[in-house]
Amino acid sequence: MYRLDDELRQSLDALEQQSLRRYLRVLEGPSAPQTKVNGREVILLCSNNYLDLADHPALKRAAIEAVERYGVGAGASRLVAGSLEPVHELEQSLCRFKKAEAALVFGSGYLANLGVITALVGRGDVIFSDELNHASLIDGCRLSRATVRIYRHCDPDHLEALLKESGDARRKLIVTDSVFSMDGDVAPLREIVVLAKRYGASVMIDEAHAVGVFGPGGAGLASALGLESEIEIRMGTLSKALGSYGAYVVGSRALIDFLINRARSFIYTTGISPLMAAAANAALKVMADEPQRIKQLWQNASHLRAGLLKAGFNLGHSSSPILPVIVGESDVAFALGQKLYERGVFVSAIRPPTVPWGTARLRVTPTAGHTRAQLERALSAFVEAGRELRLIDG
Ligand SMILES: *Cc1c(COP(=O)(O)O)cnc(C)c1O
Repeated sequence: MYRLDDELRQSLDALEQQSLRRYLRVLEGPSAPQTKVNGREVILLCSNNYLDLADHPALKRAAIEAVERYGVGAGASRLVAGSLEPVHELEQSLCRFKKAEAALVFGSGYLANLGVITALVGRGDVIFSDELNHASLIDGCRLSRATVRIYRHCDPDHLEALLKESGDARRKLIVTDSVFSMDGDVAPLREIVVLAKRYGASVMIDEAHAVGVFGPGGAGLASALGLESEIEIRMGTLSKALGSYGAYVVGSRALIDFLINRARSFIYTTGISPLMAAAANAALKVMADEPQRIKQLWQNASHLRAGLLKAGFNLGHSSSPILPVIVGESDVAFALGQKLYERGVFVSAIRPPTVPWGTARLRVTPTAGHTRAQLERALSAFVEAGRELRLIDG
């Protein structure tokens, strides 16, 4: 008799043998610099909670107040049974924060990328996509049915060559992460904007890892480069530096009104919980009131970066607080993660297909909340574990 479970178990065994099987580990406290994972006290160095806002008292208070007033669930799609007030307040805050005409909140970053790309392009259009774009952008490209031309990572010359070849396309859309999630390097946005103008293309950027990290007040990489008005579609998440859950797109009034009418991942899904919107709105306020958080994040990142480089680890081309300790094979990444965990440091291994084959890594991300002592302990653990695995000398 055919048994689906037998096949699934075989697939899982194959993943296990290649050190590619993924397991959930239980977080028994908040996503904080020091917390408890699977029963062990650990220094958490792999979250995207860059500004340490996920359990900030002001966010918690805002969420609780929103629950008291609006309840927990949104009840329906925002277009069907009313769109909750806190979400509108958040959209107004996002417009000011991102210096944009209009904003639209989505259920998550994954949903936003799927919805925006599929709404804007289809058959007969061409998407130009960086080869290391986030999976949600890749899936949006696939689902759109547009032709997808993948350009070499951060390579404007290759992008230009592909733009030249696609002269007769109806609509052209260049899509890129602004800060790359697994490498921590940044897209050449200035060059991309110039090329877009030259070849009549639109630009969409995903600022998931740039918001709260780059730019004045943490407004993102486009803001850091003064390109807010040059980039038509700017997407970001509420779930990383902003410590909440959900995502948004900012752009022109026409763009946002079109998305309200055509983005299927906005239309056919329930609106975000009022507590998430209220918490994200509070995060924007905390970020403005406590600018030292961004400074502290960068100081912590540069301390950790210097220590890891001095020890002899390979950090690729990172120029952000995302520090990829690239080790190559999945089993080595897994073993390094395991040894760190035994020493009270939690950094999970990032393996294919999340990153290209042969580039498995530990993606190390300090937050503004880590103390110098915690970073020192983590560095010692890295040095010990790295020596045991012969990744570094000594
Ligand atoms: C995390 C992430 C997303 C997805 O956002 P969620 O809100 O977690 O669904 C999209 N793009 C990039 C670059 C990301 O890192």
